[in-house]
Amino acid sequence: MIGVAALISGALMIGTAGGYALARRRADRGYRQLAALLLGLRDGDYTLRAIAARGALGAAFAAVNALADALMGTRRAGIESDALLGKLLGAVDLAIIVIGPRGTIIGGNDAAGTLLGTDAEFLTGLHPEPLGIAPWLDPNGPTRFDTALPGGTGPWHVRRVRFRRGGRDHLVLVASDLSRALRDEERRVWRGLIRVLSHETGNSLGPIQATAEALQRHAADPRQMRDGLALIERRTRSLAGFIRRYADLARLPPPMPEPAALGPLLHRIAALETRVPIRTAIGPTNETMLDPAQIEQALINLIRNAADAALEAGGAVDITLEIAAPHIRIAIIDEGRGLPQTENLFVPGFTTKPGGSGIGLVLAREIIEAHGGTLHLSNRPDRPGAQALITLPG
Ligand code: ADP
Repeated sequence: MIGVAALISGALMIGTAGGYALARRRADRGYRQLAALLLGLRDGDYTLRAIAARGALGAAFAAVNALADALMGTRRAGIESDALLGKLLGAVDLAIIVIGPRGTIIGGNDAAGTLLGTDAEFLTGLHPEPLGIAPWLDPNGPTRFDTALPGGTGPWHVRRVRFRRGGRDHLVLVASDLSRALRDEERRVWRGLIRVLSHETGNSLGPIQATAEALQRHAADPRQMRDGLALIERRTRSLAGFIRRYADLARLPPPMPEPAALGPLLHRIAALETRVPIRTAIGPTNETMLDPAQIEQALINLIRNAADAALEAGGAVDITLEIAAPHIRIAIIDEGRGLPQTENLFVPGFTTKPGGSGIGLVLAREIIEAHGGTLHLSNRPDRPGAQALITLPG
């Protein structure tokens, strides 16, 4: 009896042990499958799916399958948005060039291909140096270039956008052709110039002609003759002066930079203006490379304009200088009546002042831009008056 019972229980035990072994083998297979799936996901293969199973393993399979679905969806969305971005970049006129961490081109749009004389797909791997665009990469360099490229001679305006990908620095160059905008601007300036020139020459030639006619009629009267000739002489002298100032403007030499500190220079110029109160808030500055004589001339013009305006309205002038790396920012803000409503402020010869030359603003802007800076003149937002905002490389 005991023997039979032992036999039966022994057989049962063997049966149970066999069941465990089978279950373990199944579980092992399941875990191996799970591992293969997860490795597939890690390698970017989102197409594999686990087959249905029961119990805890089945739940794990279902979770991994859901993860694969989600990743596949994300990838599809990524591919679609990449395609959309590619289409958009292809459609814009701006040349977009991506520079990789090694300093070579790793991509660009169609406009970049046209600009550099190749198909966009052949841009990858090219070096900026032989293409002539290496200076475009310099983060401290200018943003305007006259580089002659297969796609045109510019001038080009280049913006630089840095970004990190995979922990490494990349750079996007966005180049736009300024020639069209410049041509429009040139036309505008020419129109203004002709207006001012005809106004000024008319102002002189009109009286000269009238006087000459009067003199013909009264040639015998010595006093009229003297006065008439004096007027003709004054008007021709004024006209000659006007033309000379134009010529001076055209002959403005390129700046000869040397180390100079803007702060003390600005203090010196401010001290020259004694007609109105001048308040200064000039922060400490290091020496920068600039042509002190030219910059002094530009600042004198702007401060004199501010003082002229403030004098008329009984106000003061504020001059501030601050470092806004990589720039130095200067503001000349007056309590005058504000700017005349005209597009001609920067047209050579435009003036609203008796005896004004109308050259001060153009000259100031020419000088500041030749130094890689900017000049913006506008009415101040807080009260009547004008503000000249200048940036110069720091
Ligand atoms: P000018 O001072 O000889 O007139 P500018 O070229 O320096 O020549 O200035 C041209 C004109 O711009 C001035 O006549 C004046 O009408 C206007 N302007 C310049 N600066 C100011 C200012 N701060 N406030 C008001 N008007 C100004």
